[in-house]
Amino acid sequence: MEMDREYERKCYELAYLIFPDVDETVDDLEIKYPERNLKADAKVVRIGPSPTGMMHTGTLFQAMVNKKLATQSEGVFYVRVEDTDQKREVEGAVDEIIAGLKHFDLMPDEGVVGKDKEVGHYGPYTQSKRRDIYRICAKHLIEIGRAYPCFCTQEMLQKTHDAQVANKVIPGYYGIYAKCRNISIDESIERVKNGEKFILRFRSNGSHLKKISFIDDARGKIEMADNDEDIVIIKSDGLPTYHFAHICDDHFMRTTHVVRAEEWLPSVPKHLQLFDAMGFKAPHYIHTPTIMIKDGDSKRKLSKRKDKVAAVSYFISAGYPVEGLNDYLMTILNSDFEMWKSKNKDKSYKDFEFKLNKMSSAGSLLDIPKLNDLSKEAIAKMNSEEVLRNVLEWSKEYNKEFYDLLNKDLDYAKKVFGLERDNATKIRKDIYKWEDVEPTFRYFFKDNYLNELKEQGYLIKTLPEEKNTLTLDVIKKSLEAYKEAYNENDTKDEWFDRMKDVAQKLGFCINMKEYKANPENYIGSIADFSSIVRMAVTNRKNTPDIYSIMQLLGKDITLARMEDTISKL
Ligand code: GLU
Repeated sequence: MEMDREYERKCYELAYLIFPDVDETVDDLEIKYPERNLKADAKVVRIGPSPTGMMHTGTLFQAMVNKKLATQSEGVFYVRVEDTDQKREVEGAVDEIIAGLKHFDLMPDEGVVGKDKEVGHYGPYTQSKRRDIYRICAKHLIEIGRAYPCFCTQEMLQKTHDAQVANKVIPGYYGIYAKCRNISIDESIERVKNGEKFILRFRSNGSHLKKISFIDDARGKIEMADNDEDIVIIKSDGLPTYHFAHICDDHFMRTTHVVRAEEWLPSVPKHLQLFDAMGFKAPHYIHTPTIMIKDGDSKRKLSKRKDKVAAVSYFISAGYPVEGLNDYLMTILNSDFEMWKSKNKDKSYKDFEFKLNKMSSAGSLLDIPKLNDLSKEAIAKMNSEEVLRNVLEWSKEYNKEFYDLLNKDLDYAKKVFGLERDNATKIRKDIYKWEDVEPTFRYFFKDNYLNELKEQGYLIKTLPEEKNTLTLDVIKKSLEAYKEAYNENDTKDEWFDRMKDVAQKLGFCINMKEYKANPENYIGSIADFSSIVRMAVTNRKNTPDIYSIMQLLGKDITLARMEDTISKL
């Protein structure tokens, strides 16, 4: 007993030696960061991005899960910047993350919300500004004999590691390999006093021969070998490791549910021990599946280097509609979302109740064609005004020329985007991202259209290859005749009658049934004739209804385009 008290006294001495300036205690922190005053089942969740590069698509997934859990439970979603790896820090990374969250409507309620901008009472929310907190907690662990200074050099650690590998034992700092664990407290005090360099390690009380189990809220009960490693808690630069920061931060920020990537799943035994040693209640854990991508016939992890879709900035610069991307995230996150969506077409993913037990634990496949489909659907739900607003927002940043062009006549632009959209019985679904708008609708804008013709040529010239009766001569004659007959004041019915009239005189069949029965009797059908007109006016095979297009372009441009085409044949 005497001995224990003596040991305890020495632990305090060691703690004081290492942290002479730390006056506050863990109890002080408990008062400073009290339990949150929320309703009983409110969830406090967070993302902890490290500002070490571009914003990863995975961060968006995490943010979506967090946002859902927080809003559904009237809880709190906060952002904590995990910048303890200062060597890898990249300038501007935090701004990019916040901009990404803002863009996809996933802004947090609390924490880091902008460059040097934090809100909330549980901060600072940037780990490099929380040194004092980690020091208080580390000091506490030394005082209670659960942390100790480790004087091993990198070379010594490497040697041990190599020997472990050679002898086929599990590598790590544990048991007989944990050299500094067993040096006496007197020696530790002496060596610290002598100014020897050290880092701090946790003194684990586990054995890997023992199994422990815990609940992952998405995966259920998980069994694992207990941790017996004396992991580093404070590094040589005085900053904590991820493991230790996770314990201190999630406790004092009062996180209830830790949502993080499955790469952290094997670390749970370490974390549970640390929580226990600190006397803290461990949070719930939810480990989200890794995002995979198809590569030939197999699947692999998204690669920052190889896959442009690994970066959130790709989806922003390509102009994926926010609702489309969020719907897609939800289909990956909850297996019953698609079914719900098919029954609730007019509702937003925000109305869907996200359930943890419907989260898949197998790697999630990032299926771009599916994302494109959902984005198409999302855009199809917008009226011309919404499309215009989105296109302007996107092009202002990513296609300034087009932005300026649209701004010259916003009313015209709105009419263009309104074709087969506003008041249409069947909405045209031809775009899924804003960057496609300019190429898709280019023929409505003179200079852009002329540039396209210059660069891509006249599509109409390929028509004879598709159907040998439609020779260049036939095309030319058709356009000449139609140009003569065209009357801009026609109603749609009159317009169509006139078209049929011209076509019939030239030898086209105006009755599709009849044409299909005896194609050899005609040069082509009325469909072929309208194709000729459509291609001459738009340089495209598929467009909204050509009558409305001509109305929008006006007589002069319509006729000029036909004349120009004739002259090029
Ligand atoms: N900074 C950690 C990471 O980027 C966060 C993990 C967590 O959410 O706890 O992986």
